[in-house]
Amino acid sequence: MATDYYQVLGVPRDATAEQIKRAYRKLAMKYHPDVADEPDAAERFKQIGEAYEVLQDQNKRDIYDRGGDPLGGGFSGMGGFSGMGGFDFGNLVDAMFGAHASRGPRSRVQKGQNSLVRMHLTLAEAAFGITKPMKINTVVLCSRCNGTGGEAGSEPVTCTACQGHGEVTQIQRSFLGDIRTSAACPTCRGYGTVIPNPCLECSGEGRVRAARTINVKVPAGVDTGNRIHLDSQGEVGPGGGPAGDLFVELSVSRHDVFTRNQSDLEMAVTVPMTAAALGTEIKLKTLEAERDDCDPEDSEIMVTIPAGTQSGTRVAVPGRGVPKLRGRGRGDLGVTMIVETPQRLDDEQQELLRQFAALRDESRPEVQVERQGKGVFNWLKDAFS
Ligand SMILES: [Zn+2]
Ligand SMILES: [Zn+2]
Repeated sequence: MATDYYQVLGVPRDATAEQIKRAYRKLAMKYHPDVADEPDAAERFKQIGEAYEVLQDQNKRDIYDRGGDPLGGGFSGMGGFSGMGGFDFGNLVDAMFGAHASRGPRSRVQKGQNSLVRMHLTLAEAAFGITKPMKINTVVLCSRCNGTGGEAGSEPVTCTACQGHGEVTQIQRSFLGDIRTSAACPTCRGYGTVIPNPCLECSGEGRVRAARTINVKVPAGVDTGNRIHLDSQGEVGPGGGPAGDLFVELSVSRHDVFTRNQSDLEMAVTVPMTAAALGTEIKLKTLEAERDDCDPEDSEIMVTIPAGTQSGTRVAVPGRGVPKLRGRGRGDLGVTMIVETPQRLDDEQQELLRQFAALRDESRPEVQVERQGKGVFNWLKDAFS
C-alpha cells in the first residue's frame, strides 16, 4: 500500500467522518479535471476519490488502518461508475449534496425485523421450566394475497414513470458540469413495479399486523435477563419476505418465601428457643409444590434442626435448589434459622425458666461482647439487606 490516504486528504489519522467528508469535498473541487490547471490534476483527483472511498467507509477504513488493502488490489467493484478513470461518481454526489445515489429497483420482498418481547415468570416457572403460551402482537403474512400484495390475478406491472428502474434521475447544472442525481421513483417507491389492484387486506404490503399466540418453551434454571431465541418467529418481511427472529426476554418475579442466589434457594424460618436448644425436625413446603405436575413426595421436605442451633445458622439441603441451566444437578436449599425468644410467659413458665437459669448459673449472666463482622450480626445484615 504505497498511498497514504490520510495524507492524500490532508486529515489526521483520527479524523472524524465529517472532517474526511469536508476535506474530500474541498480537494475534489480543486482538482476536478474540468477546473484544475495542474498537469497532474487528473491523477490527484483519482487518488482523492480513492482515499475518500476507503476512509468514508468504516469497514474499509478499518482494513486500511490494519495495513490491508480494502480495495482488493484495484479500484473496481461497486457499480455506478462514471467514465472518469474508475472513479465512483456517487461518492462525489454524496459528499456534495448529502444524497445517496440509489442503484436500480429495490425488491418488494425483504427480510422482516427481529422482535423483542418480555415474558414474566414466577420463580417456580423459571426454576423448573415451563412451556407457556404467549400472546404477541406482530406482523404476519397477509393471508388474502399470500404476501404478493395484489388482489387475486393482479400481477405487478412495470412502472411507467421510471421504466422499471426504480429511480428517477435529475440533472443539476453546476460549474463542474451537469451532475446527475437519482432518487427513488415516487410512483413505485423504488420498486420498479406497481401493483394495479393492491390487496384490500394489506394495501399491497403483503403483511398485516396481528396478534398471535405462540408456545414458548422455557428451560429449567433461567433467570431474569436471559433471552430465548426463536428462529423466524419475528416480523414477516415486506412482500412476504422471510420472518425475522423473536427474542423473549425473561423477567422473574419476586417470591414471598424463597430468594434465589445463583442455583441455590434461600429461605428463613423462625424456630422456638426450646426447639433450637433441644433439636427437632421441621416440615417445609418446597418451591416444587407450586408446580402443576409436582410429585407429592417432592412437595414437602423434612429438615433436621440440630440441638443447640443458634439464630442465623444455615442448614443446607442439597439438591433442593434451582436446576443448573447449563450442566447438571441442582443447587442447595438453604434454610436459615431465626431463634425466637418466648414472650408473654405465664407464672409457671417464668418459674421454670428461673429454675433453668439457676441450674445453668445464668441468673446474673456475664454478657459476651461480639466483634463486628462476625457471627450472627453479619448474617442478619446479609440476609435482610
Ligand atoms: Zn394482502
Ligand atoms: Zn417507478
